[in-house]
Parts: sequence; C-alpha cells; structure tokens
Amino acid sequence: MIQLYIPLNFLGVIYREIKQSLTDLDKMFTLMERDREVADEPDARPLMVKAPPAVRFENVVFAYDPSRPILQGVSFEIPAGQTVAVVGASGSGKSTLARLLYRFYDVQQGRITVNGHDVRHLTQDSLRRHIGIVPQDTVLFNDTVAYNIAYGRTGASREEVEQAARSARIHEFIAATPKGYETMVGERGLKLSGGEKQRVAIARTLLKNPPILVFDEATSALDSANERAIQAELAAVAQGKTVLVIAHRLSTIVQAHEILVMDAGQIIERGTHAQLLNANGRYAQMWRMQQHEG
Ligand code: ATP
Repeated sequence: MIQLYIPLNFLGVIYREIKQSLTDLDKMFTLMERDREVADEPDARPLMVKAPPAVRFENVVFAYDPSRPILQGVSFEIPAGQTVAVVGASGSGKSTLARLLYRFYDVQQGRITVNGHDVRHLTQDSLRRHIGIVPQDTVLFNDTVAYNIAYGRTGASREEVEQAARSARIHEFIAATPKGYETMVGERGLKLSGGEKQRVAIARTLLKNPPILVFDEATSALDSANERAIQAELAAVAQGKTVLVIAHRLSTIVQAHEILVMDAGQIIERGTHAQLLNANGRYAQMWRMQQHEG
C-alpha cells in the first residue's frame, strides 16, 4: 500500500484540501472512487490527440457553493502549442480554472473544450492522461525518489527517470545523497524544500510528457537565482506544449502569448506583456509594484 505523508485513514477528511493542491492524484481517485465530484457519461469518449491541442473556455460560469459565484463568464483560448498566463488577486479564481480543466468539477454554464471536444463528454482518465499539473505544493509519497519521479509514468526505466531529473535540475541534488535515487523521501525520509519538491513534480511531469501543461506557480517568494532556475525549467517543460500558467510573479510570464488579468471571477484585461503595459491598467500597476518590490 502506498504510504503518503498523510496517513491514509485521514484522507477522506482532508480530501478536499488535497484536491485544492491540484496534485496529480489519479491513484488516489481510484482509491476513493465514490468521492468523485464528476462521473463519466455512459457514452464518454476517450480523448485522443497526436499534437498539443487547443483548449477553450467558453463563457464559463462556476461556483463551489451556489450562494457564492466564483467564475462569472470566463472566455479564452489557448491555441495549440501556446502559453496563456493568468494573473490576478488572491481568490480571484485562477486555480479554479485549472481545477475545471482537469475536471475536478464541472462547469455550471458554458463549456471547456479540448480540440473542440467538451471535456464533459470525454472519459476522465483519458483527459487527465493528457494534462500534467505542476502544483504549488507537491504531495510526495513516502517512498524512494525514483518512485516519486516514475509516478509520472509507471514502467519508466531508471535512465528515463534520471533524464527527467536532469532536465528538472534535481539530478545532482539526488546523486549527492548517500542512496541516490533509492533515498526515501517523506516524513520518514529525506525532507525536501518547497523548491526541491517542485523540481520532483517537474521531473514527474517531464516523464509523463503530456501535451497540456498547467503550471501553478508557488506563491512563496523565491530569490532571483531560484526564480531564474524555475523559469528555465518551465521553459524546458513547456516547449511546444499547450500551457496554462497561473502566475504570481509577473517576471516569469513576460513571454506568454497572452496574459489574462482576473478580478473577482472575471477577466478584466488581456493581451501580451507589452500591450498590457501600454494599456496602463491593472497589469501595469501590478508590474510597477513588483518592480518596486524587486
Ligand atoms: P490564489 O492566488 O490565492 O491561489 P486563486 O485566484 O487561485 O487564489 P481560487 O483558488 O481559484 O483563487 O479560489 C477562488 C475562490 O474560490 C476563493 O475565494 C476560494 O476561497 C474559493 N474556493 C476555492 N476552493 C473552494 C472550495 N473547495 N469550496 C468553496 N470555496 C472554494
């Protein structure tokens, strides 16, 4: 039985919190099938794409609790192989977009499509196989580093695991530990920092090699060397994929094809970094503030 940081018998209780962390928890979903918020339609079709697909949000309306609307008619497109970044105040609904794309929940109005297919008509397993999420907080299993990386693709060889770790710039750190890839991580093993855990998540995602990628940037401040490293890793993972970045540091997304600025569940500005600076609105204000803080 897989042992998590958190004892399994508490999972039911903390299920919602874990789901919030957007971690790739397909296995856990299997364990807790009855807790799924959404179910496959009887005639659900598997998603099959050969190249990174286009993702569209069309007039999406969503609330966790009917009395409190969260997304209020959100529309945008991530063209195939491009990167769209979402910024905005805490609680404005950014991570909710990712949760809906991964289909932790269904939209209440509007639709989300992948290459034109409404995600509600697709099998969840096939949809989730096509999406890699690098979450803010990665849940690691109480198992070896190798297991934690290979979890991205069961059956991956040690060479493939190492290659993914190299690309995620975590190989040298792992190789320097006495047991290398056999080092146990988790509460009874090696404790990893937030940045190291995120690199394990990136390695895992590289190994999974999904055509759609969601990168939920950690809110915690990083020093500029670390920030540059994470940016380089993100660029490596994102190469040629359809990417949604939920960003807190604007400096990491200046190259995005489009940036969406959210406020209270609506997109209030959109454009490239240069266009948004020119518009001199909320984004420009956030940019000046972050430059000042920097
Ligand atoms: P941050 O930048 O802090 O990560 P965010 O813009 O990503 O914030 P979301 O996580 O999308 O914000 O949350 C949007 C709103 O929905 C918040 O007010 C949050 O409290 C609420 N919310 C999130 N998850 C749930 C839930 N499971 N049940 C009820 N409300 C929720």
